[in-house]
Amino acid sequence: MDLAALLDRIADDVASDVGRGAVADYIPALARVEPRRFGMAVAEVDGGLHGVGDWRHPFSVQSMSKVFTLALTLSRGDGVWARVGREPSGDPFNSLVQLEHEDGIPRNPFINAGALVVTDELARHGDAAEALLAFLREESGRPEIDVDAEVAASEAGHADRNRALAYFMASYGNMRHPVPSVLDQYVRQCSIAMSCADVARSALFLARHGVRNDGSRLLGLSAAKRINAVMLTCGTYDAAGEFAYRVGLPGKSGVGGGIVAIVPGRCAVCVWSPGLDARGNSVAGVAALDRFTTLTGWSVF
Ligand code: GLU
Repeated sequence: MDLAALLDRIADDVASDVGRGAVADYIPALARVEPRRFGMAVAEVDGGLHGVGDWRHPFSVQSMSKVFTLALTLSRGDGVWARVGREPSGDPFNSLVQLEHEDGIPRNPFINAGALVVTDELARHGDAAEALLAFLREESGRPEIDVDAEVAASEAGHADRNRALAYFMASYGNMRHPVPSVLDQYVRQCSIAMSCADVARSALFLARHGVRNDGSRLLGLSAAKRINAVMLTCGTYDAAGEFAYRVGLPGKSGVGGGIVAIVPGRCAVCVWSPGLDARGNSVAGVAALDRFTTLTGWSVF
């Protein structure tokens, strides 16, 4: 398959979707992003890397970071599953509602409450955002990857809902560390800036069933399978059913407009376009992944 030509074709096919939707505006640093951006990268398990458009332009990874913190946490044991579930929530990503019904145990690791628990669990071994940065720099081969300080400051100033979620879980005994420290690490992890190429390369361990780019093993087969499964069922806010229907791959989106998707055994794909649909997924991003699996026939189904 000529992936470079395929990506060019996809970029043409989704051109009318680029710029549609609304750029995240809950913080000024994200609201300023140029809506007509589009980039897509495919990293293959054997090392091939292809891209189109703005595929080397850094953007705010936001909730895509949750895949990597979950992987790093699971690489140190599976105790986190006593503190977080793995069912789709059907509620918005920052909802408080279901936490009260389920005794402070978040539904899954990809809604904000669940991601705060994962960050708290990872923090048992040191600063979670620093551990994440170290991993992303190694996997992408780009030591310059870092937190965008302006986005982080903006996030920290608009974190009341996440703070409320964390304190609520703490009231049920489901926070190990003081909330301000967990929140600080969570805000920095969301504010990391990476390009589509960086994200696709960093996510390859999930396409390789747990094996990193240097050949060492981060996760066992089961843990890698489980992360892909949770991405499929819970990775795209409350539109995971629609994403599975259209794309048919494990995927995780972020409000920065990025989506990372995994074709097990073959490749990791990252697409970025900042315009979001009503559920928070990139309009052009979902359309591009839909075209990708349709044209290649590569889906998990
Ligand atoms: N930093 C955002 C928050 O926690 C992440 C949102 C997202 O990408 O889903 O609210």
